[in-house]
Amino acid sequence: MEGQTGGGLPVGQGEQGLGGTCAGQQSFLIGSGIHDITGPAAEVGMMGYVELKQQTAGIHQRLRSRAFVIASPCNGKRVVFVSADLGMVFQGVKQQVVQRLQAIFGQLYSDDNVLLSATHTHSGPGGYSHYALYNLSTFGFEPKNFEAIVEGIYQSIVRAHEHLAPGRITLAAGDLLDASRNRSPEAYRLNPPEERARYAYDTDKRMTLLRFTQDPDVEVGLINWFAVHTTSMGMEHQYISGDNKGYASYLFEKARGTRYDGTGDTFVAAFAQSNEGDVTPNIHGGEDGGGRDDFESTEISGRKQYERATSLYASATTPLTGGVDYRHVYVKMDDMTVQPAFTGGTPAHTCPAAFGISMLSGAEDGPGVGGGEGATCAAMHDVWSAVTCTTTTTHCQAEKPIALEMGSMKPFPWSPEVLPMQLVTVGNVALVAVPFELTTMAGRRLRETVRAQLAPAGVTEVVIAGLSNAYSGYVATREEYAKQEYEGASTHFGPWTLAALQQEFDALARALREGTSLPPGPKPRDLYHQQNRLRPGVLFDDKPLWVDFGDVFADAHESYDRGETVRVTFWGGHPKNNPRLQGTYLRVQRRAGPLWEDVAYDWDWETKYTWRRSYCLPTLACSHALIEWTIPPDAVPGSYRIVHEGDWKSGWDGRVRPYRGTSRTFTVR
Ligand SMILES: [Zn+2]
Repeated sequence: MEGQTGGGLPVGQGEQGLGGTCAGQQSFLIGSGIHDITGPAAEVGMMGYVELKQQTAGIHQRLRSRAFVIASPCNGKRVVFVSADLGMVFQGVKQQVVQRLQAIFGQLYSDDNVLLSATHTHSGPGGYSHYALYNLSTFGFEPKNFEAIVEGIYQSIVRAHEHLAPGRITLAAGDLLDASRNRSPEAYRLNPPEERARYAYDTDKRMTLLRFTQDPDVEVGLINWFAVHTTSMGMEHQYISGDNKGYASYLFEKARGTRYDGTGDTFVAAFAQSNEGDVTPNIHGGEDGGGRDDFESTEISGRKQYERATSLYASATTPLTGGVDYRHVYVKMDDMTVQPAFTGGTPAHTCPAAFGISMLSGAEDGPGVGGGEGATCAAMHDVWSAVTCTTTTTHCQAEKPIALEMGSMKPFPWSPEVLPMQLVTVGNVALVAVPFELTTMAGRRLRETVRAQLAPAGVTEVVIAGLSNAYSGYVATREEYAKQEYEGASTHFGPWTLAALQQEFDALARALREGTSLPPGPKPRDLYHQQNRLRPGVLFDDKPLWVDFGDVFADAHESYDRGETVRVTFWGGHPKNNPRLQGTYLRVQRRAGPLWEDVAYDWDWETKYTWRRSYCLPTLACSHALIEWTIPPDAVPGSYRIVHEGDWKSGWDGRVRPYRGTSRTFTVR
């Protein structure tokens, strides 16, 4: 079996990764890998805003999975950390990724030591959950998107595994101001004044960064965590985008010459998500991120994160010390008794999953499905007529007027209730992996719970790894919950959800410190084979008789100045025919002697690929591909052309065939 690169030492039960034999150890085995996870770029409902009209119609940035394998030669344990440009990592995704890893690597990788975290971009294709609530915007499951995501994450981990080599990890942390804002300040203010007084801000400003260097001195990547929603791009856009974190990664990787085509080792820069539940990048209020449009706002937010990460990266000299360790349990989140130690006096209980009415009125940094302020059951019935909306509550859900009780839907609940709790230590850094979006204060309390257990064992840095391994809404504090703003309304399991988490992570941290094991908990259901596809795929592609696929419909001008935008439209096929993973739908090429050299692709910031249906007779199945290139100010003057690559599906034999089209040659002055 491959994969014994992890030092080959036996993993002893009760062996401690923190102190014990690994205390003071500074060497790790580290490997990084990156892979494309961009799903269908047209006609798939997007994941995040639950806006039914928001369907993919092109690519601004490709989505990536960024993976790190970290092993300790000292105790033989290893963990995988992945940050993926996704709205969420759903349970079914983790289940499939682990199954594929185990098919090759056996028990080397499992639920317990694989941590998959989403950046929470709201601009990716959806339909990749196995639970109905999260497939509403796509009218069901989208197998092509699910496959692109699962296979891409899996491939990124395989690459990280193959690149595993001895090295060291160094740490830096510092504040990034002026890049985030609390979007529910009234709820935040309900937290006790003495607690709030301990913090300078109403969101966490700290960016924590790990720098990975293989021996003797090969820089292979970084991970940083900073809590901010990836909602710089609003719900009116139809381009696939990694949003502000995707752009920050792109900037860092571009500066390091990262190769996205998968050839050889490459630098991987993960901008990962943390406790961003009530944190918006739109620092001027509402949906205003400071740019003239959302693209510019994304640029501003991404660049701030990139620049802070760059300075932290340069100053990251403190070595991580210790081994690698982890604990993982599944809990039935809707049926937990919470001890008085975590509730402030009396025992409490979690509730069947339900969301409140204000979840509909103020969704993710924008108006929700219920139609903005003052959402009502009537508005909701317009969207989901099958749903019982009562606006009554239960004793368990306390202040929450229930709009939908997902937990009692048949035959399966509409959102998962058996959920993973995972605690990972890499040297003296602890990662608290939660399948939720935690608000600022919820994250702080959970970090304190873990810190109280692990600080005596040498842990100095505790980080929330948000949106990890599954997804089931938000977690607000008990006080914030009472206000029933968006985050409280989206706290599925009731007012004591955070207390239940604290209780669970207290046990995980204690077990990790003491080197004991915990019962694995109930197994979550696997609904992979229960998915219904409601929308048909591409039937076939058509074009007018007198053209070929790839022919130019509207060509470039003869010449351009830098800063201008070149636009070329081609007769094309539907991008669902082939997502071109690790590839591109476009190339901007410059003439270099007898050759044409690529200068930009579909993931570059200055390009856009737009798909449009074109109503040609008689079948209405024609497609136009618009390629745009905004010429950067530092472009080399010369002769250029635009190339479009795609795939079309034949109505005669059902086969999918590639095509390629080229614009006229134009001059950049
Ligand atoms: Zn969110």
